[in-house]
Amino acid sequence: MKNKTIGIFGGGQLGRMMAQAALPLNLDCTFFEASTDCPSAVLGQVFSSQDPQGLEQFIASADVFSLEFENTPLADVDLLMQSKAIHPPRQALAIAQNRLSEKTLFNALAIPVAPFRAVDSLETLKQAVTELGLPIVLKTATGGYDGKGQFVLREAEQIDQAWQELGPAKSLIAESFVKFSREVSIIAVRGQNGDVKTWPLAENHHHHGILSHSIIPAPNSAEFLPVAQDYITRLLNHLNYIGVLTLELFVTEQGLYANEMAPRVHNSGHWSIEGAVCSQFENHVRAVAGLPLGSTEVVRPSVMVNIIGQHPKTEDVLALNGAHLHLYNKTERAGRKLGHITLMPVNSDELSNLCRQLAKILPEPLALTQDMNI
Ligand code: AMP
Repeated sequence: MKNKTIGIFGGGQLGRMMAQAALPLNLDCTFFEASTDCPSAVLGQVFSSQDPQGLEQFIASADVFSLEFENTPLADVDLLMQSKAIHPPRQALAIAQNRLSEKTLFNALAIPVAPFRAVDSLETLKQAVTELGLPIVLKTATGGYDGKGQFVLREAEQIDQAWQELGPAKSLIAESFVKFSREVSIIAVRGQNGDVKTWPLAENHHHHGILSHSIIPAPNSAEFLPVAQDYITRLLNHLNYIGVLTLELFVTEQGLYANEMAPRVHNSGHWSIEGAVCSQFENHVRAVAGLPLGSTEVVRPSVMVNIIGQHPKTEDVLALNGAHLHLYNKTERAGRKLGHITLMPVNSDELSNLCRQLAKILPEPLALTQDMNI
């Protein structure tokens, strides 16, 4: 059988795990990334975005395309689409790259979001503060990630400072501050025949703006799971989406509010490699290759812990009962995601115990033990 080749924009850990899932299906992957020494490089040829011929060669290298990098330039996608197909659709990528378009789409599909205003001058910022009231979260419309490009405006005296910090970005969004009790995400996949499957909600905990760990299924989430499923299904069907989509949500007393969508596999879905019948990575490549989707059922409740900045000792992690270690072959740097660990405890006692042990061996254990109330 001739292997189908999937070309992936980006070559980070998400591409690496996609390619790991593609391998047993005889699907090859190629990548488009600045550095040919990226985490995906061991799994397929990397075409460098620094090379003037790189994009053309990448387009020639595969049958069908996808992405793991949300800020994939739309101009590159346009060139690709002259001859080949990409999943998810260009429109989903374009919308996800701009917070204003994203929130506008959520509104149009009756998916609740915090009230927001477009801001492009000091005057429109002042007007947004008057109309929305304080506090507000001011964000750059494009390019922000992991909480970067944001300013929480609590007092009117901060308006000038906020504008000085973020104003140069030109296009901003001011959102009412959402009083949430928890942050959750739902991940879903839509196949080429329109089939939709969702994984359970993940409860996500952040540390310094970066995902620290996720608990799956999110505790006490049965009540709002169908709501989240409904919201993400509306998005998938409206966008005629193929592949994996993630929707990040705030849990509030008034119900769920959408924060943002990611048109790709997501860090809060890494648990599914071991914790679900079919992982987000496998279902994504199945969808992209036009294959039937696999079951998203949970095999075992899981906790996924990110390894950030510094590696723990491999032998310490593997000594934990049932721990699965995934390293991304990246060098250490503050705030960088280097790998993750999936724990699959049989009950809450074992979970507390494993987290306590893990906290001792992780370089930055505080968030984990604090959030787990250990
Ligand atoms: P984002 O880059 O939009 O994912 O935001 C990063 C983090 O900032 C989120 O995970 C929330 O913890 C917080 N945040 C973002 N938007 C809001 C908001 N409107 N109200 C309260 N917190 C927010």
